[in-house]
Amino acid sequence: MAQKFTLKVTSKEQVTDKVYFVTFALVLPPSIDFRAGQNMMLMIAPGVNRTMSIASPPSENLSLLMVHDVSPMGPGSKWTLGLKVGDTATIVAPTGGVLSFADSPRKKVMIATGTGIAPFRGMIIDYFDRGGGANVELYWGQRFEKDIYWKDELDKLQSRHPAFTWHQILSKPSDAWTGLRGHVTEHVFSQEKDLQQSEFYLCGNKGMIEEVREQLLAHNVPKEQIKSELFY
Ligand SMILES: Cc1cc2nc3c(=O)[nH]c(=O)nc-3n(C[C@H](O)[C@H](O)[C@H](O)COP(=O)(O)OP(=O)(O)OC[C@H]3O[C@@H](n4cnc5c(N)ncnc54)[C@H](O)[C@@H]3O)c2cc1C
Repeated sequence: MAQKFTLKVTSKEQVTDKVYFVTFALVLPPSIDFRAGQNMMLMIAPGVNRTMSIASPPSENLSLLMVHDVSPMGPGSKWTLGLKVGDTATIVAPTGGVLSFADSPRKKVMIATGTGIAPFRGMIIDYFDRGGGANVELYWGQRFEKDIYWKDELDKLQSRHPAFTWHQILSKPSDAWTGLRGHVTEHVFSQEKDLQQSEFYLCGNKGMIEEVREQLLAHNVPKEQIKSELFY
């Protein structure tokens, strides 16, 4: 059940021009139970809060990792920009959880744009830690080469777990980029052959989520096999 927690910032790292990793240690209560894919609500100021995905897996129950894209520069972004190691914060957690994996043998296809990767990281680590046996395929769309982070982390997960595959797709790469380019949607629909037998997990911006959902429904994928979390 969601409850209030006091946290302390133990690390803050800028990983791209707009994305920060912030690790919070749980202070009171000192640990948390949650399902991979759930969120925390940051209490930024009286009456102002912002929801953020928990990017760390539930096995790490003494701390929480947040991956924040501060480009909107609203109250939430400014709050994260101002955080310093040692600061305290208040959250209500865990909240939401619509993305949590269904307990089924179906292939899990995950599609993220931008920091929509955050809940997926915790979900993928947790799934294979718990001995999950289904194939998991991740498509992650970003814009430029400078937006890339977690390549090593995802490559390591892929080599450790043969059932996991991931693809980085850039919509506005330089001419030197030799990887996949364009929008995630086109790659999902050109590569995924068994749509009706798969489950789909979508996280990120509204445009991507609406486009993928519409096309999946047009391919007769049951709506119960499509889960999505809209960031903005
Ligand atoms: C369930 C849920 C989970 C979320 N998890 C994360 C997360 O893990 N990491 C994360 O970075 N954000 C996440 N968000 C988005 C986050 O809660 C805020 O919306 C975002 O940080 C903007 O807050 P703000 O106060 O800076 O700007 P606001 O004043 O709230 O928004 C300013 C404007 O920016 C738009 N906007 C919001 N986010 C973006 C974006 N990334 N790019 C472009 N425009 C945007 C908004 O639609 C609005 O029009 C999540 C949102 C939801 C609903």
